[in-house]
Amino acid sequence: MKLIVVTGGVMSWLGKGITAASIGRLMKSSGHSVTMTKMDPYLQIDAGTMSPFEHGETFVTKDGFETDLDLGHYERFIDEELTKASSITTGQIYLSVIQKEREGKYLGKTVQVIPHVTNEVKDRILEVSDERDVSILEIWGTVWDIEAPHFIEALRQLRLELGRDNVLFVHVVPLLHVSTSGEMKSKALQHSVVKLRELWIHASILVCRTTESLPDDVKRKIAMFSDLEDDRIIEALDQKSIYSVPQAFYEQNLHNIIHERFWWTPANCDLTEWNKCVDAILHPEREVNIAIAGKYTKLDDSYISVVEALKHAWAAYKAKVNIHRLNTEVLNCDDREDVLQKFLREKNIQGILVPGGFGDRGIEGMINVADYARRNKIPYLGLCLGLQIATIAFARHVCGLKDAHSTEFDEATPNPVIDFMENQRTITHKGGTMRLGNYEAFLKRGTKMYDLYGQESVLERHRHRYEVNPNYHEILQKNWMVFSWTSPDGSLVEFIELADHPCYIATQAHPEFKSRLQKPHPMFLALIEASL
Ligand code: GLN
Repeated sequence: MKLIVVTGGVMSWLGKGITAASIGRLMKSSGHSVTMTKMDPYLQIDAGTMSPFEHGETFVTKDGFETDLDLGHYERFIDEELTKASSITTGQIYLSVIQKEREGKYLGKTVQVIPHVTNEVKDRILEVSDERDVSILEIWGTVWDIEAPHFIEALRQLRLELGRDNVLFVHVVPLLHVSTSGEMKSKALQHSVVKLRELWIHASILVCRTTESLPDDVKRKIAMFSDLEDDRIIEALDQKSIYSVPQAFYEQNLHNIIHERFWWTPANCDLTEWNKCVDAILHPEREVNIAIAGKYTKLDDSYISVVEALKHAWAAYKAKVNIHRLNTEVLNCDDREDVLQKFLREKNIQGILVPGGFGDRGIEGMINVADYARRNKIPYLGLCLGLQIATIAFARHVCGLKDAHSTEFDEATPNPVIDFMENQRTITHKGGTMRLGNYEAFLKRGTKMYDLYGQESVLERHRHRYEVNPNYHEILQKNWMVFSWTSPDGSLVEFIELADHPCYIATQAHPEFKSRLQKPHPMFLALIEASL
């Protein structure tokens, strides 16, 4: 078991997550079994109760853990399904320590950060890293932060316990470029290396984020001040695609530097298949315009898995996907169809995607968009909330239930086509209580969805409280909404599709979490194909 620890210096937003994930890809493509873990200092147990405005998307693992968006990058880069164990937060650690204290497990000892908190961190790291060749651990924030020392201290101790050759530290730092003088300034970077050394950590590899290529003399200077060989200084230039980063590191021999550091024979790292997909992203032959109709239209990170899943379909069709964000709040009244038409015309929109979401902002606008897409045969993909929206639109405009709604947005609606299931009614705590993680569902033969997946039983990840109300299944189906897929006991609708439409599909799950560069998700492929 080898540990690679990725820390950050000077500032956040350096792409530390992508750096860690790219190292993961290099190790995976060198034939190793790899796992990855994010260590977050916040006091939450999980990221489920955090707003996407604050923290970006909440990613869901197959075992139903709501976590940081970085786990999404990890899964996409190493093509592994991670679990709850891959997310360590200070909240989880302290909760466990305090529980043990209450149970009297510390036998009268004074309970302290060292050793009790650090031991808890070490146990968690060993548990997640077990039986893997390489376990990559990314620590949130920068090494200056007041919130992360217990993580760094635990890793320092582990390096001692597991042996120095088994634990490697990679430090990601910015190289500042002064545009007026054209100079590269490495002082902040050097301070950060020193700061790390104050914590008894000597980084073996420095990844320098820079806007300009690193001249040899600058590289040598950084290497000298960091007490490293020149080749341990890795340049990380901005790339056109995040998926190009593994190749950029490969060209600097990072895979072999890591192998050497672990006393392994030289790596046989093969990125051919990966790079074929990257090449299709970098050199598209056509374009397609997709509207994402939702409320978190300002922040890119809010729908990051959706955006990445669209990129995977882009690679598959060599068709650049231009994403246009449609803030549906302006479409809330029924008479704003002209505004929608103008938007669709001006942006030449070929397909519409309604992603997941919570809260009532922009909901009426989304329902109008879903109805417009149905009437005008515009390809539509609904994800979780997007299925609920499509169902409400269909109930209102096809089934004649004019006041149909979801009880999430109108508790007193006479036609609650979307509603809480019984088990959700008694819930008082919001954290971790939704329908979460993998659920198996069965596709009906003869449906579009069966054709797309090419199999009967499928597993997709969930994160929602509301469902299509079973009392309305019959009327919806009578009016030609096809439930192409239901969960094992048939009571929960997992998929809908419209038969007389080129592509009107939606799922109660979040298929975006399972899409990969080399394995694009069939529903995203269907949207892009139909839109093209
Ligand atoms: N708000 C809806 C629910 O809780 C949809 C959630 C989602 O899109 N993830 O059911």
